[in-house]
Amino acid sequence: MTKTTRRTLAAAAIAGLAARSARAQAGFPNRPITMTIPFAAGGPTDIVGRLLAESMSRELGQPVVVENTTGAGGTLGAQRVATARPDGYAILLHHIGMGVIPTMYRRLAYDPVNGFEPLGLVTEVPMTLVGRKELPAANLAELVALMKSSGDRFNLADAGIGSSSALCGALLANAIGAKPTVVPFRGTGPAMQEILGGRVDLLCDQTTQTTEYIRGGAVKVFATPSRTRIATLPDIPTTAEAGLPGFEITVWHGLYAPRGTPAPVLARLTTALQAALRDPRIVQRFTEIGTAPVSQEDATPEAHRRFWTADIAKWKPIIEATNGYAD
Ligand code: ASP
Repeated sequence: MTKTTRRTLAAAAIAGLAARSARAQAGFPNRPITMTIPFAAGGPTDIVGRLLAESMSRELGQPVVVENTTGAGGTLGAQRVATARPDGYAILLHHIGMGVIPTMYRRLAYDPVNGFEPLGLVTEVPMTLVGRKELPAANLAELVALMKSSGDRFNLADAGIGSSSALCGALLANAIGAKPTVVPFRGTGPAMQEILGGRVDLLCDQTTQTTEYIRGGAVKVFATPSRTRIATLPDIPTTAEAGLPGFEITVWHGLYAPRGTPAPVLARLTTALQAALRDPRIVQRFTEIGTAPVSQEDATPEAHRRFWTADIAKWKPIIEATNGYAD
């Protein structure tokens, strides 16, 4: 074979591959998409993810199948998607963990920032401090006193270092100078079961899960670490109102694809995300569980990247100052 023939064949092969990949992108999606949730089924991230997946399935004409890859504070699920084939069939719904994990985890088997393409923001959810029903504290001041006097006999449930519940719990413990025993779960779905069973004392968790338990009186609620009260749970004081100023955290969620996913595929996924966030069923259900879809402008890769970058910068000095590393 002459050099020219070899070059011609190589060029034809490359052109063939490019044409095949263009056809694959044009037909995207032509099979089910997997949405990884990095926390356990039944918890707040899972609740948001399943609603989103159902609506995106309708929009994309293919099932968006939820899979819970749990453990290590949400890093195992993130790793799964960061290292997946970047073809649009593996996407990740994650939360504020994407803002704290790059600082908290100094050793990871994936790149927690450059491993992903942000597709758009999804929601921002308030948190609530909820305790087991029999906890001997009637309000936040009494809870603080109890936590301080109980030392490590007080149990604080969370979803592992990197989760929002862990971040919230650490901020609370630091703010009041308490040293509770931390009991990590694979998500706050299972953690909530332990609160309901009276086997752990306290959990800081999103309203997307806690609303129904608060309304039903199944848990004791102490405060929301938000700037303002929650519209759907207006009787709950903010932490500042209840005597603990400067302790604020809400949980944002965003959707991601692996870095290197082709631009037309990313665009298709973002369009489906935006359509889902306009879906009246999502709007209604999100509202019932204390949140709302973000605006269409925020459900874009650009807005998501800006917000995410700012969040990493926001938490970095706090994590460094409190030595809040995972290792
Ligand atoms: N709410 C959890 C957290 O603490 C995660 C979950 O959705 O289960 O980050």
